[in-house]
Amino acid sequence: MNYVIIGASASGMSFAKELRNLDKNCNITLISRDENVYSRCMLHHIISGHRTLKDINFVEDDFFNKYNITWLKGQTVNDLDVNKKILYTDKRSVKYDKLLIGSGAHAFIPPIKNLRESKSIYALRNIEDALSIKDALETKEKIAILGAGLVGVDVLVSLLEKNKKVSIIDMADRVLPLQLDKRSAKVYERKFIEKGASIYTSAKVEEVILDETNDPKAIKLQGGQIIECDMVIVATGVKPNIGFIREGSMEINRGIVTNDKCETSVENIYAIGDVRGVSPIWPLAMKEGKIAARNMVGGDERITDSFALRNSMNFLGVPTVSIGQVNPPDETYEVLTEEGSEYYKKIVYKDGVIYGVILQGEIDYCGAYIELIRNKIDVSHIKYDPFNIGYGDFFEISENGEYKFKAVV
Ligand SMILES: Cc1cc2nc3c(=O)[nH]c(=O)nc-3n(C[C@H](O)[C@H](O)[C@H](O)COP(=O)(O)OP(=O)(O)OC[C@H]3O[C@@H](n4cnc5c(N)ncnc54)[C@H](O)[C@@H]3O)c2cc1C
Repeated sequence: MNYVIIGASASGMSFAKELRNLDKNCNITLISRDENVYSRCMLHHIISGHRTLKDINFVEDDFFNKYNITWLKGQTVNDLDVNKKILYTDKRSVKYDKLLIGSGAHAFIPPIKNLRESKSIYALRNIEDALSIKDALETKEKIAILGAGLVGVDVLVSLLEKNKKVSIIDMADRVLPLQLDKRSAKVYERKFIEKGASIYTSAKVEEVILDETNDPKAIKLQGGQIIECDMVIVATGVKPNIGFIREGSMEINRGIVTNDKCETSVENIYAIGDVRGVSPIWPLAMKEGKIAARNMVGGDERITDSFALRNSMNFLGVPTVSIGQVNPPDETYEVLTEEGSEYYKKIVYKDGVIYGVILQGEIDYCGAYIELIRNKIDVSHIKYDPFNIGYGDFFEISENGEYKFKAVV
């Protein structure tokens, strides 16, 4: 059996390892545009200079030898013929019996006047991007970051460490709008401002103002406000890498459509990770790699947990965990908060079930909250402080000494 994998990142690598563990004899070929294996989540550490490419490798140095995988690195798949079961890279054609697509995503560059035309515009998706940004910072001083999500804020913190003058701009009314509420976002905003950042929220970029050489001079916001800059970093989301898929040959929506077994609409082709356009986060890509490998060799496993609404972060020494629905969707949800000078906690619940939690400053018991939210456990009978729910309230020890989740208290 010839298995071919597109992608050498979270999804492709986790799939390859699991597949080899399950089938010692099959042929596995992995094709990637990437020439190195590295964690994209760590790219901001390359910009800050805290880590090297070697430091952000997330597999063993001899991975491909150890798992007996042929790696066609530095090759881009340009075309896929699903009828003939063959794909074409820029260097050769490769036949497969079963194909795993883990081609991920690329940075989305929004249609803002002059943005694409401008020089000194960067996105952060690949190691090449991180190294280019690092090089550019040798001469650039005033950087505007478009987008205050996790990637934008990661970059912001790296640049503040380099003592650059940084402005971060987002349409939402706070930084990290998907992960935080206004109160918890404010804690970070204050810290960033103390370190010298300028923060523009509820702000829409109208135009990049260019100089005569097409370098950016400033960002113009709707309403006319001008933010001076000599470099722009775009962190406004991602789009799946699906350019090699022939139109009409596979079901595509925001990304490649799959069922919960990771099967695409084409027999013997599976897709996992960011290319599905569902929830572009690392742990989900890794988990889907395992699920797809097990299913491809005849198993029947499903994606049961989208991981979508679970984030942990630690910016400028303040840890935060955000789980589930942290901003109540309507008035039928109740909100409990507790705060001190160094911490903030919030629980969003309805009919005795917790739907979302923010823990900032003190993040104890976040694992227990994840289980309560995931399993929709009724906590209404817990009479004491809901902010002090711990593992002990919901976990029991089985006969073999293993801890397991006790659904009913
Ligand atoms: C700066 C940054 C910070 C992040 N921080 C976090 C974080 O803190 N937590 C978190 O959960 N997630 C984070 N993410 C998101 C996380 O990195 C992604 O969810 C994860 O990398 C997805 O893995 P993937 O394998 O699906 O795709 P990708 O990592 O995008 O990898 C795609 C692979 O496919 C290859 N490829 C693409 N197209 C082709 C082609 N046509 N031919 C051949 N090869 C191709 C690429 O070379 C690459 O090897 C971050 C991402 C970035 C960029």
